[in-house]
Amino acid sequence: MREYQLYINNEWVDAAEKRTFTGINPYNHEPIARFARGGAADVQRAITAARHAFDNGPWPRMPREERAALLKALSDKINENKKLFVELEVMDSGSTIRKAGEDIYLSARNLANFAKLGLAELDRELEGVSKPGFSKNLLLHEPIGVVAAIIPWNFPLKMAVWKLGPALIAGNTIVLKPSEETSVTIMELAKHLREIGFPPGVINIVTGFGPEAGAELVRSPLVDKIAFTGSTLTGQYVMQAAATNLKKVTLECGGKSANIVLDDADWEIAVDGAMYAIFYHAGQCCEAGTRLLLPNVIADRFIEMLVEKTKKIRLGDPMQPTTDMGPLISQKHLDRVLGYIEKGKSEGARLLTGGRRASNEACARGFFVEPTIFDHVDNRSTIAQEEIFGPVLSIIRYDTIDQAVALANDSIYGLAGGVWSKDIEKAMNVAKRLRAGTVWINEWHLLNERAPFGGYKQSGIGREFGIEGLKEYLEAKHVYIDEVGERAKKSWYDVVVPKG
Ligand code: NAD
Repeated sequence: MREYQLYINNEWVDAAEKRTFTGINPYNHEPIARFARGGAADVQRAITAARHAFDNGPWPRMPREERAALLKALSDKINENKKLFVELEVMDSGSTIRKAGEDIYLSARNLANFAKLGLAELDRELEGVSKPGFSKNLLLHEPIGVVAAIIPWNFPLKMAVWKLGPALIAGNTIVLKPSEETSVTIMELAKHLREIGFPPGVINIVTGFGPEAGAELVRSPLVDKIAFTGSTLTGQYVMQAAATNLKKVTLECGGKSANIVLDDADWEIAVDGAMYAIFYHAGQCCEAGTRLLLPNVIADRFIEMLVEKTKKIRLGDPMQPTTDMGPLISQKHLDRVLGYIEKGKSEGARLLTGGRRASNEACARGFFVEPTIFDHVDNRSTIAQEEIFGPVLSIIRYDTIDQAVALANDSIYGLAGGVWSKDIEKAMNVAKRLRAGTVWINEWHLLNERAPFGGYKQSGIGREFGIEGLKEYLEAKHVYIDEVGERAKKSWYDVVVPKG
């Protein structure tokens, strides 16, 4: 079994209280790694290291090109060790090997592109504000300070990279807390940090539990910014804790995204697209297409094809390339998802397929739920409003586009949405009316580190990716340079300064 200590100030250290916890493989319940269980003292130690590295170390003052080169080197390490990272990600998160291959490839690509993005020139003179002979006005960007990054378990390495990349290229130092469910790949990556040349204290990683290590991180007055990805409920708590010293916060939280099929959609793509939207990673995606909105005129035939294909999804060993869908992350999460399925039945939705824990031989030891589809779901019911985070699709029928838009927007969430139509102008009109941070037309899930991603409403605050995402890790500074130069001409001083 692999063993990982905490990574603080470029050193591997035990937790102060010597406590540990074990990560298990959600496919077969076998232990795969033992981690140090970070507590308050460990978090303080990591924050102190990050604080010192920011206040006194070279990192924030280093030319951006040098920081970019280190991030690129880290990206190269992921590529060089791709096979190992893919296998560990499968064992740790239950991701299928096909998906993990994409995730590891994307983690390396994201990191390399964050490094490039960080070289964009944002500092400039503010034209229209500067007036020769009166003042010159500069807009500068500076790192915020110590960033506390807290991430979930669904895309372990990718989520870590999405925080590390922009935070570091901007010149911040960081304390990262991975999810207690999936800490393996980021700790494996940490093995390369010192050798690559990251100065001490720039990257610190504390494994541990949310209410312990996580809570201490968000409470600390020595932290300047929290970058959080996780559930909306935890996000609310994080925001409250951040208020004590007005930490900057970005929150990437839950979703209940509406996938709207218009009556002129290309079915061949839309049926598969709807499956991809909901069943990718067994529905454990914040941006999953969990609500499928179908026009009554085509609903019956569309659903027939959808159900037929869904029944063919192969559940089983995620390490096998033939497996389409892996297990959920834990027993607790399995129980939660099954609870929602029961709720759906009791609230009157019609179960079309799935609805149970998968119990065939290949799934016997893992936390598998059958791909599940409910039809005739009331948009106000629990399974249409709450984030299930499992392979459970709610079909909601509509008659008019206005109705579809109203249903889509009738949610506390606003992370993503989708529209399927052969008429791009028509789809575009719908896309513009959706209150969501990402809208796909005839597609789902595809993101790009150069385009902003984030939520409206309770799906979050701020953006990841793109220049918008980079700016979340920067302070904007206005420097005003006087060009008047003569007291007599500064008549505005006379408001308070007595003459003579
Ligand atoms: P979670 O909120 O339970 O945990 C997320 C992280 O917060 C974990 O590292 C956890 O240890 C930590 N945490 C828990 N309690 C804490 C506390 N009191 N103080 C500080 N930290 C604490 O979420 P999860 O179950 O790990 O992940 C699933 C959720 O993440 C879903 O809601 C999903 O939508 C969301 N998510 C959002 C995005 C996005 O980009 N919007 C991406 C992935 C996942």
